[in-house]
This record gives sequence, structure tokens and C-alpha cells, in this order.
Amino acid sequence: ISFNSARFLISASRLEECPPDSGAEVAFAGRSNAGKSSAINSITAHGKLARTSKTPGRTRLINFFTLNRENCRLVDLPGYGYAKVSRDMKDDWQKHLGHYLNDRRCLRGLVLVMDIRHPLTDFDQMMVEWCEHNNLPLMILATKADKLKFGQAKTAMLGIAGKLKEFQCVEHLIMFSATSKRGVDECRDALTAWLEA
Ligand code: GDP
Repeated sequence: ISFNSARFLISASRLEECPPDSGAEVAFAGRSNAGKSSAINSITAHGKLARTSKTPGRTRLINFFTLNRENCRLVDLPGYGYAKVSRDMKDDWQKHLGHYLNDRRCLRGLVLVMDIRHPLTDFDQMMVEWCEHNNLPLMILATKADKLKFGQAKTAMLGIAGKLKEFQCVEHLIMFSATSKRGVDECRDALTAWLEA
């Protein structure tokens, strides 16, 4: 799979607007400002994709990107807000995305993007538990690692790993940086394995 060939396909606000539920998809979730757009950008080496998703009006939509392999897609889920988290979760994120996450049969895995300095927020925890409950493979990108000294980043990774050790769903925990590109290749390899399985 060539991630560089990713192209914007469609935005959806409801399940009925999503592309046909066939082939394979991997979805990206994360708290607003965690670095999800930048992560997708560096994985696809394609600055326009993240801009597409950040276009006003599209931020609350599910954005689909096609890859060069037939019927393989990356999916950018709406970021959940850092203000009034529980209300946003209920009113927007959960309502718009519950259907997608619960009903999408072609979903192969979830990538949860979190700021390595602020890992495992309440919402992140909820997503981890949701994946565990639904047997959906989970990849965690601990991004903005360049903001920490390497030793601090290592310590942060160990802390995250310790908190997640009882969760079977966590297949990949990757120290990541959109700035330094740390973790991009590892992430691409893991995505390829999921999409081609
Ligand atoms: P999103 O809301 O989750 O899509 O977050 P963005 O990708 O828009 O990133 C939020 C802010 O963090 C922006 O100012 C980015 O430039 C910055 N940022 C994202 N990823 C990184 C990273 O890996 N390193 C650094 N230093 N800054 C980052």
C-alpha cells in the first residue's frame, strides 16, 4: 500500500452517507489538538488531506480517504473537544460516531492519537475500553514526542504501557512525532498489516 497516494473521497455525517461498507478501513480518533491531523499528514505525506478535514463544516464529519489499494480507506473521525468533554462526548462525538463504530463491518482497527505529554484522557480511556469490549485492534500513537527529551519520552511510554497492560486490544503503542517523523514507518507497516489482512 502506498500511503502517499491517499486522496480525499467523501465526508459523512451519518452512516448512510458513508461509502459502501466493503473492503477495509482504519479509523483515526483523538482529542482536538492532540495532533491527529498532523499524524495523518505525515503518514500520507500529503498536506492537503488534513486541511481537507479541518475545513470549517467538515470538522464534525467523518472524512474518508482512499488508498491505492482497491477498497482500502483511512478514516478521519471528528476530534472530540477539550472543553466540556463529557457534554461534547454525549452530544456530538457519541451521537455522530456511535453508529459508525458500532455498525461498520469493514473497520479493521482504530488508531488513537494522544499527546505524549497528556496521555489517556477520560475520552481516550473510553475508546480503549470500547475497543476492548468490541475486539477491535487498537494502535496508539503517542505523538509530539519531539516536545520531550528522549529519556522523558521513554518514561512516558512506559507509563502508558503500564496503564494499558491488561488490555488485549492494544496491538501497537508507538512513540510518534509529525515533526521528526519518528514512528511514521512503524505506523505505516502496522496499518498495511491491518488493511491487507
Ligand atoms: P488535531 O486537532 O488533533 O488534528 O491536531 P493538529 O494536527 O492540528 O495539531 C495541533 C497542534 O499541535 C498544531 O499546532 C500542530 O502543529 C502541533 N503538532 C501536531 N503534531 C506535532 C508534533 O508531532 N510535534 C510538534 N512539536 N507539534 C505538533
